Amino acid sequence: MRESTPKTVYLKDYQLPEYLIGSAELTFVLDEQDTRVVSRLTMQKNRKSLNGNAPLVLDGERIILESIKLNGQKVTANRYELTPENLILPGAPKVDVFTLEIETRVNPKANTALEGLYLSRDMLCTQCEAEGFRKITYFLDRPDVMTRFTTTLVGDKWSYPVMLSNGNPAAMGDLRKNRHWVKWEDPFPKPCYLFALVAGRLDHIEDTHLTPSGREVKLRIFVERHDLDKCAHAMQSLKHAMRWDEEVYGREYDLDLYMIVAVSHFNMGAMENKGLNVFNTKYVLARPDTATDADYEHIEGVIGHEYFHNWTGNRITCRDWFQLSLKEGLTVFRDQEFGADRSSRAVKRIEDVNVLRTRQFAEDAGPLAHPVRPDSYIEINNFYTMTVYEKGAEVVRMIHTLLGKEGFRRGADLYFDRHDGQAVTCDDFIKAMEDANGADLTQFRRWYSQAGTPELTVISDYDGKSQSLTLTVRQSCPPTPGQPTKEPLHIPLALGLIAPDGSDYPLQLENEAEALGQTTRVLSVTQLEQRFRFVNLPQEPVVSALRGFSAPVRLHQHQSYGELAFLLAHDSDPFNRWDAGHSLAGQIILHLAEQLIAGERPERADRHLVEAYRKALAQSWNDLSYLALLLGLPSEDYVSALMKIVDPDAVHAARQMVMKEIAQMLENELSRLYEANHREESDCFDAEAIGRRRLKNTCLGFLAALDTVATHQLCVRQFRAARNMTDQIAALSCIVNSGSADKGACLDAFYQQWRDEDLVIDKWFAIQATCHLPGALGNVRRLLDHPAFDLKTPNRVRSLIGAFCQSNLVNFHQSDGGGYRFLGDHVIALNAINPQVASRMFGPLTQWRRYDDARQKLMREQLQRIAGTDGISKDVYEVASKSLA
Ligand SMILES: [Zn+2]
Repeated sequence: MRESTPKTVYLKDYQLPEYLIGSAELTFVLDEQDTRVVSRLTMQKNRKSLNGNAPLVLDGERIILESIKLNGQKVTANRYELTPENLILPGAPKVDVFTLEIETRVNPKANTALEGLYLSRDMLCTQCEAEGFRKITYFLDRPDVMTRFTTTLVGDKWSYPVMLSNGNPAAMGDLRKNRHWVKWEDPFPKPCYLFALVAGRLDHIEDTHLTPSGREVKLRIFVERHDLDKCAHAMQSLKHAMRWDEEVYGREYDLDLYMIVAVSHFNMGAMENKGLNVFNTKYVLARPDTATDADYEHIEGVIGHEYFHNWTGNRITCRDWFQLSLKEGLTVFRDQEFGADRSSRAVKRIEDVNVLRTRQFAEDAGPLAHPVRPDSYIEINNFYTMTVYEKGAEVVRMIHTLLGKEGFRRGADLYFDRHDGQAVTCDDFIKAMEDANGADLTQFRRWYSQAGTPELTVISDYDGKSQSLTLTVRQSCPPTPGQPTKEPLHIPLALGLIAPDGSDYPLQLENEAEALGQTTRVLSVTQLEQRFRFVNLPQEPVVSALRGFSAPVRLHQHQSYGELAFLLAHDSDPFNRWDAGHSLAGQIILHLAEQLIAGERPERADRHLVEAYRKALAQSWNDLSYLALLLGLPSEDYVSALMKIVDPDAVHAARQMVMKEIAQMLENELSRLYEANHREESDCFDAEAIGRRRLKNTCLGFLAALDTVATHQLCVRQFRAARNMTDQIAALSCIVNSGSADKGACLDAFYQQWRDEDLVIDKWFAIQATCHLPGALGNVRRLLDHPAFDLKTPNRVRSLIGAFCQSNLVNFHQSDGGGYRFLGDHVIALNAINPQVASRMFGPLTQWRRYDDARQKLMREQLQRIAGTDGISKDVYEVASKSLA
């Protein structure tokens, strides 16, 4: 908690560490309220640092110092200085290499912030990224200090039968009074943010993986005993991920043991600690009856992500936290490609872009906009953002697009060879990509330093006489906080030209002798305005621009409803085909919303959409998940982003109108498709079964919008008969959002069925929190008093408070400001418990400038109230103050 204004840290102030820690021997005597930590550090002065005689400043917060010894000699209190954040030894040791032994104590049970060593139920565990290790012991807590760790854990056999840390187990033994000890050795130097320990009554499943070089790796997943039957999918996912990284990147695992532990109290998704990943239970546990298809997919993605970090993050890590995207952008790109290879590439791309465009674009247009590599921060925990992760991944993807698959692999190989065992920068990564390919990415580097979403305008001009098409491409980027003007970026623009019969033209630019048969080409856009002239086009084509979403930009094109419907029917690029339909639906909903705002009473939506859907429903499809996405209407977030001043009521009403109209016009087709794909199945997880369920439940969603007794019965029938969570929860969601008389009974039945499964009860809360009917806020307030609700469990907080504020736009933005006050109350309450969770919760308020004057005022009031709270954390202070600036 702060007393004065928290200070800002700047990238430009980076300096090499003055001291290094070669090895750390840690001993933990475990106790849930009083854990003793003895840390024996072998330290040396850093010869590369210019200031070799600097005082030794160690980081440490909220720990009790017991004693310090320098080279075995006790350091008396008058020879060191202790501040709330540091332990300072003013006189630098006279020798280059010395040992420091520090004994400290911490209270895991009091640690509700869940950073450092804490208690999750009765299990002890750690979370050290970004700066949690300093809450365990005094250390040089910065990623460019890489240390070899040896960890000895001492604990009671009954409370802590299992005691884990990084690396390989080296020795163990018994002690008096029913106690025991285990020693772990990690041979790989690592920054302390990758340190982990877990101790508790855990069970595990085990498997093995044989690497291409012939080493056998033991794989273990640790959970609480009653969850052992929900680990199989996570284990399969891990084995797939290991194989994929060997095949695609030529990288294999390097320890004898790979461990994953699932914990129920966790601030994030998962953490890639060397050899000992700690996961939110949400991303490990799955059984067909408890987890949805989407859960299965997310588990595979997160397991892959953390595994891939072993090379991109652990062996090569970040020099400083400004470089966070070095490991996150690259690793998200790798997990996205893993997912694409494992399922439907088109579906995966659409899902990823959807998240980027709705959430990252909003972040980039708001008060918290920052570059992929930020220049400054107050609290680094606030920079685990969509920009660093998702836009960072898009930047890596663009390098992949520009260099091609083989070129990218050459660059990755050079990066691994050159920097293995080092802490490096985003620039080092690009340099390796350049050097391996003889490429020049000088201008491209601006993607790392410029914030904001670039706008790309494409204007086409067809000349029938010369049978040519001139494309004029313009780029610009709106100002963002601290960056009033921007330089032009290097943007890869993939595009195709489609003939009136729906086929792709071979692409030939005017200075080329012939078309080489390519129907999609990547143009390098590097200037503010550029022209490209395509020839040999007997008839005017329709332009399919930004195929595969080749760059994270907002694309502007003048396209009529007719052209969009044409692309939806014919585009050979599956992403653009979907995007054309999405854009068509989005514009039609937007137009209706505008009519509603103007006080008109539109009777029906434009028919282009219904007709396009009718055509799509009449075709036969191999990839049913893709068809389901094609039929899905854009979210209210997506439509809101198209408006100058967002009107959540109008957007919601317009979208509901279109939903209902499609259901009315296509009721027979949708019902037939529903019945054709309905099975009561429990354990089918191949792409076909997943696609079937996804399509069927999309149809059910439309039909439920009719809100008739017949559709209520259909939903209740599916709910009662469901043998998998995907079908059960989809039906329950429809019931909760309808006028069904069985609503209360179904919610009760669901709760009784699943009351012992935390992750399913999270869904039960979330379904009610996102109900779009009037009165949702009152119901959410009542649920706060439910015995199963707990403000100290991040998953629960996210499933009720987070889901309501982030995914229930119409009710969160109710015009009396009740939703804003609700969020304000809970940010303040959470600030005292868990600042990280509090700060991530109030994103919706930071977007206040997008709303009308009355809502702006109400939202600002809450931000001011939060900013003025006594004892506000750095995390919350930074977001509130930047939002108000
Ligand atoms: Zn990560």
